[in-house]
Parts: sequence; C-alpha cells; structure tokens
Amino acid sequence: MFDCFGRKIDYLRVSVTDRCNLRCAYCMAEEGIALLRHEDILRFEEIAGVVREAVAIGVTKVRLTGGEPLVRRGIVTLVAMLHAIDGIEDLAMTTNGIRLAEYADALARAGLRRVNVSLDAVDPAHYAAITRGGDVRAVFDGIRAARRAGLNPVKLNCVIQETPEEPDARAVAAYAAAENLEVRYIRRMNLAEGEFSVVIGGSGGDCVHCNRLRLSSDGMVRPCLFSDIGFSVRELGPREALLRAIGEKPECGSSSHAHFHTIGG
Ligand code: SAM
Ligand code: SF4
Repeated sequence: MFDCFGRKIDYLRVSVTDRCNLRCAYCMAEEGIALLRHEDILRFEEIAGVVREAVAIGVTKVRLTGGEPLVRRGIVTLVAMLHAIDGIEDLAMTTNGIRLAEYADALARAGLRRVNVSLDAVDPAHYAAITRGGDVRAVFDGIRAARRAGLNPVKLNCVIQETPEEPDARAVAAYAAAENLEVRYIRRMNLAEGEFSVVIGGSGGDCVHCNRLRLSSDGMVRPCLFSDIGFSVRELGPREALLRAIGEKPECGSSSHAHFHTIGG
C-alpha cells in the first residue's frame, strides 16, 4: 500500500515489550522507567492479528524489537506464530544480544530469518559503561551462536555520537571486519528535540524513502518515529489503526515524546 506521498509501506517494526535487561545511557534512565502495566501490553494473539492485517495490506517485512525482545517470555512462540503467516518475506529481530546465545537455535527453528545486534563498543569496560552493566562477552557469544544457527546475515547496530571515526566505533568496525559482519552506524538521536539523521549503511531516518510503520508494545500503530501520531489497535481494531496510520504518515518527522524503549527505534 502507498501513502499520500507515494511511499510504498511494506515494513512493520513490532516492539514486543518495554522491558530491558540493559540500561543504555541514551535510551533508558538508570533508575529504570515507568513500565507499562502487563494488561496494557499486547498479547501474542493481538500482535499476530495486527501483523496478519498488515500483511494483507502489503507489509512483507517484519522486525521484532523492544525494549529487549529476548526478555519477553515466550518470544520463540511469538516468532513461530508470525512465521506461520503467509506473505512475510523477511522476519527479523533487533536485540542487544545478551540472551542470544541461549535463544539463537530456538529462534531459527521457529522461523526467524536474521538478527541485528546492537554493539556500541567492544572494550568490556566501555561496553559496561554505555549499557550500565552489560557484559560484552555475552554479546560476542550471542553473535557466534546466531551465525551458527543460520540467522544470517548478522548485522551490527552501532550508536555513535557524531562519526564512525570515534574510537569505540572504530573498534566495533575492526571486530566486524575480523568476523565478517556488516555494521550500521546510527547517530545518537534525541526524539524530544527532533534530532535525527540517516542511518549510515542502513535505511532508517530517510523520510523520502521511509517504508515503515511501528507497533508499540501497548498497541499503538505509529507512522513515524519522530511524531506523536498513533492509532490504538485495541480501540480501532488492527485494520483501521493501520490504515489511519498510513493515511496520516507525515511527509517528514519533526519531534516526538516517545521513548526508544517503547517503540523500539
Ligand atoms: N534492545 C534492543 C537493542 O538494543 O538492540 C532493541 C531495542 S533498541 C531501542 C533498538 C535500537 O535503537 C538499538 O540499536 C539502539 O542502539 C537504538 N537506540 C536506542 N536509543 C537510541 C538513541 N537515543 N539514538 C539512536 N539510537 C538509539
Ligand atoms: Fe535496552 Fe536496547 Fe534501549 Fe539498550 S538500546 S536500553 S538494550 S532497549
């Protein structure tokens, strides 16, 4: 389906939880966040219902994100439910990788096709500082397990301040080259202040070519990361929420009060 500006909308990013096992400085407050109530978070059947409608109107690519998708209990079951929907050509996940070693085989068997793993630093102390306590060795194990399980190509997402020439980003590039992995650099954004830019080596942040819709963990279909427009699937039903979101997708984003951990980046 096309939006009012002639953009083909074929990509849905699904945030399956607002919870996370890390506290990246640019994403979540250290003391934690105001979490959604469990009853406000979409159940798997509801998520599958939205994805089914999205596929019916032309979505072919679905990505699971969060919060951290691998802390949502039963995530493998959700992957299997989505895999069973005819018409999804690409079923992917963005994860911090901490629990990936544990889940990679089961995810691949359930039908996940590939993963993006967020990695901003390879130095254990730097990684722990950025994520407020994360163990980068768990991420390395997760990446290896994902490759062995066939979740390829495994791509890295690396958040940078300004340029890929920063020391941590260069170290990530060296690790990626040694392991034969692709890296996408994402400039650190501030949604509230409308600071966003294109993803280097990827496709995000480019309004003219934006093909995305987002489903937040509490059931809002959002046409733009940099706007507060959203339509509730529980109030309107999935089809209507999706159609209205496409109909009101802004030509270009401005700013938003949303948080990355609720809409998944
Ligand atoms: N927890 C998973 C992870 O970290 O990969 C998935 C959710 S996370 C919100 C999705 C992506 O958003 C990650 O690659 C993360 O680095 C990015 N992200 C979070 N906050 C950001 C910010 N302020 N600016 C740019 N990217 C951000
Ligand atoms: Fe968690 Fe991902 Fe946000 Fe880091 S970027 S706090 S891993 S949701």
